[in-house]
Amino acid sequence: MAGIETLFTNAKLADGSLKDIGVAGGRIVAIEPAGTTPRTSATVDIAGALLVPAFVEGHIHLDTSFYGDKWIPHKACTSGFDVHERVAFQAQNMAQAAPMDERARKQLELCVANGSLQMRSHVMVDGSVGLKSLETILKIREEYRGIIDIQLVAFPQNGILKSPGTPELLDEAIALGADLVGGLDPASFDRDLQGHLDVVFGVAEKHGVGVDIHLHDFGSLGAFTVEEICARTAALGMEGKVAISHAYGLGDLDPDSARRIGAKIAKAGVSIMTNAPGDHVFPPVALLRGEGVTVFSGSDNIRDSWWPYGDGDMLSRAMMISYRSGFYTDEELTTAFDVVTTAGAKALDLEGYGIALGAKADFVTLAAEHVPEAVVAVPKPRRVFKEGRLVAENGAVVR
Ligand SMILES: [Zn+2]
Repeated sequence: MAGIETLFTNAKLADGSLKDIGVAGGRIVAIEPAGTTPRTSATVDIAGALLVPAFVEGHIHLDTSFYGDKWIPHKACTSGFDVHERVAFQAQNMAQAAPMDERARKQLELCVANGSLQMRSHVMVDGSVGLKSLETILKIREEYRGIIDIQLVAFPQNGILKSPGTPELLDEAIALGADLVGGLDPASFDRDLQGHLDVVFGVAEKHGVGVDIHLHDFGSLGAFTVEEICARTAALGMEGKVAISHAYGLGDLDPDSARRIGAKIAKAGVSIMTNAPGDHVFPPVALLRGEGVTVFSGSDNIRDSWWPYGDGDMLSRAMMISYRSGFYTDEELTTAFDVVTTAGAKALDLEGYGIALGAKADFVTLAAEHVPEAVVAVPKPRRVFKEGRLVAENGAVVR
């Protein structure tokens, strides 16, 4: 076929069919039965491996990970999980860590090698660090342009109202290049739900950008905050541009209450991010999806001051979501896979995502029969292609 620059042949798609995929200008321009497209000088034989769209790493912290640095032992909170105390531990740990740019590169390469080519990273912007972290991560984003697409959230880790100067800094952060405005436990951290949301949505409205709020609050406080965020989103016509990360409180509700609030979340077009963390309750993935909510995922913290876990692999994250959600059937396992791929693309409002004509040729090959097996087995190694170009294989970025 004319116009094909690179031909990927014998690729098994999620529906089990074996296909040739033609790529030109970084986009998929042909999907034909395997063996029917004339080979070009640039032909890559996928040899029957499963070819899936690149994973969406929807929530990570590029500035605060110690991955690739020396091991920093985890310190437990003195009396149960406390966000203020964890933030204080983080400040102590950051002071003794390797330079931020070195750590961010290592974390990014880990994610790319595992097949994530679209990412949303939160970066601290508040009175404690000003815009310093954001400036570093903006530089790193430029370095990795063409390898991975990165959205940055200006994240007020020390609160907005409790950290002097933060409202102005969030405004400056967006002007500087951050893509979204973040927030943190408006009621329990800043003790002022409406005051906190006034700033977050005020900056977002001023710049016409989206919002992604960390919400760790459990029980009715968490659920109430979710409802308030949905109300603001609807009032400002920001459907599809707002996400709530963690939303643990949704995991505390009885099924009827969860369905009722799920319908409100879906109607407001707010997405919910969960990484199915350790021992916390977390949002009921299948129930929320059943109500029409976009549920996406991310590694969140990787070897940082919050926990020592994380491997930058969204396929293993899908396995964890499945495991903790009690997903067993092929349909359920495929649901978990959707959370780390297509649903992530929807939450991040990505253009040209998927294995389809006209989409970006961003894909990963997996040694698996089909998607449910991939979720359970988490096969490695993989080959990772960005706009049709090999960017990682055998667990490392290719240059
Ligand atoms: Zn986070």
